[in-house]
Amino acid sequence: SKTSPIKSVNPFNNEIVATFEVMTDEQVDSKIGLADTAFQSWRKTPKAERAQLLRRVAHLLRVRGPQLEALATLEMGKLLKESRAEVELCAAIFDYYADNGEKFLADQPLDTPLGSAFLSYEPIGVLLSIQPWNFPFYQITRSAASHLMAGNTMLLKHASNVPQCAQLMEDIFLEAGFPLGVYQNLFIPGSKIDRLIADKRIKAVTLTGSEPAGSSVAAAAGKYIKKSTLELGGSDAFVVLDDADVEQAAEAAVRGRIWNAGQVCVSPKRVIVEEGIADAFLEKVKTKFAALKIGDPTDELTDLAPLSSEKAVEDVIKQVQQAVEQGATVLAGGHRIDRPGAFMEPTILADIQPGTAAYEEEIFGPVFMFYRVKNEQEAIALANATDFGLGGSVFSSDDQRAVNVARQIDTGMVYINHVTGIAPELPFGGTKHSGYGREQSPAAIYEFVNTKLIRVT
Ligand code: NAP
Repeated sequence: SKTSPIKSVNPFNNEIVATFEVMTDEQVDSKIGLADTAFQSWRKTPKAERAQLLRRVAHLLRVRGPQLEALATLEMGKLLKESRAEVELCAAIFDYYADNGEKFLADQPLDTPLGSAFLSYEPIGVLLSIQPWNFPFYQITRSAASHLMAGNTMLLKHASNVPQCAQLMEDIFLEAGFPLGVYQNLFIPGSKIDRLIADKRIKAVTLTGSEPAGSSVAAAAGKYIKKSTLELGGSDAFVVLDDADVEQAAEAAVRGRIWNAGQVCVSPKRVIVEEGIADAFLEKVKTKFAALKIGDPTDELTDLAPLSSEKAVEDVIKQVQQAVEQGATVLAGGHRIDRPGAFMEPTILADIQPGTAAYEEEIFGPVFMFYRVKNEQEAIALANATDFGLGGSVFSSDDQRAVNVARQIDTGMVYINHVTGIAPELPFGGTKHSGYGREQSPAAIYEFVNTKLIRVT
């Protein structure tokens, strides 16, 4: 094959650990055919049977936990303890749709004077799911669990740096007893995606990733009149009001920002603090940063892991350097750590001016963009001064006040006195350039179904 193979590289020491051949167009076509054929019987498989298979996946994820955890840490460098939490979250999401899917998909009677009418939720066919590497198992799970429960089949194109995780998930679906073709992994580059979206057998596409990838996929889906959902980047505001518990807020901010080495779409990237407590907050963050243990992701005591790749750490360093060239001040960190692996110092940038790159862009690493504001109104204006609209947090000792601020923040999710979190029963998704559509919660299962009206006179 002329296309270079997909490489699995350990970012802790930059060693290549495995390679996979890119699939040929012919191989991909036969997988699409298989997914389409499988759909014809999967759509008729009783929902209780589908639920039972999801439950088996949850069980296998738990049984094979140590293998999955080690693989996520090996391929993208996250802390082993974070990999463990990720695998448990995946199992909980499969269980959630196994437990609730039938109820969510039950016919819904409508109130009408025109005889009787109801909504029937029917699957639409083969879905293409394109996912990023930052939560290699969770990203697959949150797109697959709800949509497979609904009776769709899925082709998964994972990020090129986590091929072993992608392969293992396919193995687990088969081992759980899913019929051949219901869930398949594709080893292909992003450049091959448009051809798939054009294929008549593929009915819709869901992507989690960057803005450029989202824009490209949504454009192709629009051209062929196919539905899409997009979960794109974020630059979440972490608003600390002057009546907040400073220790609690600083601890949450630091833990939230170093989570997954800062590579989380809903990480608290822009910290916006009312001036009355800004100095106290900053001092606490600096002290906490200085105490972090940085190093081997497999060591249970490590707090901050390497970034996912050499390129990832180089990109973050470039963004920090550019911020400084454009007038920002580094209050902590700012450098690459002088050791093998993709390590970056936890960093605080301040004095970031409107119109500069740091003001506009997402930084996908352990970097705070710190802003001091005069009052609540300034905090809200700054929180909204971005094209992104994914999550956000408001810290205050007054829940009523915090909720009032939360209502004025243009994002898909706002958490009070907590970083933006994840739970199977809570919706996840954004607005503005962070995308559209929701994953998890009851909402996800309706994204790719035909909500059909049947009226009986
Ligand atoms: P990315 O480059 O957009 O990659 C994401 C996926 O899209 C990968 O599978 C990638 O394949 C594929 N892809 C890239 N360009 C494509 C194109 N033009 N057409 C079709 N597919 C394409 O994203 P990333 O930079 O690795 O991931 C980080 C981004 O994801 C951040 O912006 C982060 O905020 C966002 N994210 C969002 C959420 C959310 O829920 N909103 C969750 C996690 C991450 P290859 O690997 O083969 O290029």
